[in-house]
Amino acid sequence: MCLFCKIVEKEIPANIELENEDCLAFHDINPKAPIHILVIPKKHIDSFNDIDPETMAKLTPFMQDVAKQLGIDQTGYRVITNVGSDGGQEVKHLHFHILGGAKLQWGHFTDADPREYL
Ligand code: 5GP
Ligand code: ZN
Repeated sequence: MCLFCKIVEKEIPANIELENEDCLAFHDINPKAPIHILVIPKKHIDSFNDIDPETMAKLTPFMQDVAKQLGIDQTGYRVITNVGSDGGQEVKHLHFHILGGAKLQWGHFTDADPREYL
């Protein structure tokens, strides 16, 4: 069983922010912003590559509810999902990072030459 499946099964403790039948939101153990939540589907899906529209339809309003509950829906936040090796995905159970609580930096691509893709 993967790490996040163990969190779903409550075999590993997590600081849970919101939960329903299909989705779970908990605080990241190594936060990269004042608010750093991980949102996962309870059923195991490897990554965004494999998500089905029905699960995405459940996750979308759930993530909006998480942002509202934390009071960052009006101040703003960022939703990120890392996919695979280049994306820096460490845990192979689909998760969306919700980052907020401060003005976030945007600097991931400073070394890239975007002209290559134009
Ligand atoms: P990734 O790099 O796969 O996109 O993100 C994995 C995230 O999971 C990281 O931000 C990391 O801090 C977080 N994480 C890893 N292990 C645990 C854990 O056991 N509990 C919690 N709450 N977060 C974890
Ligand atoms: Zn899993």
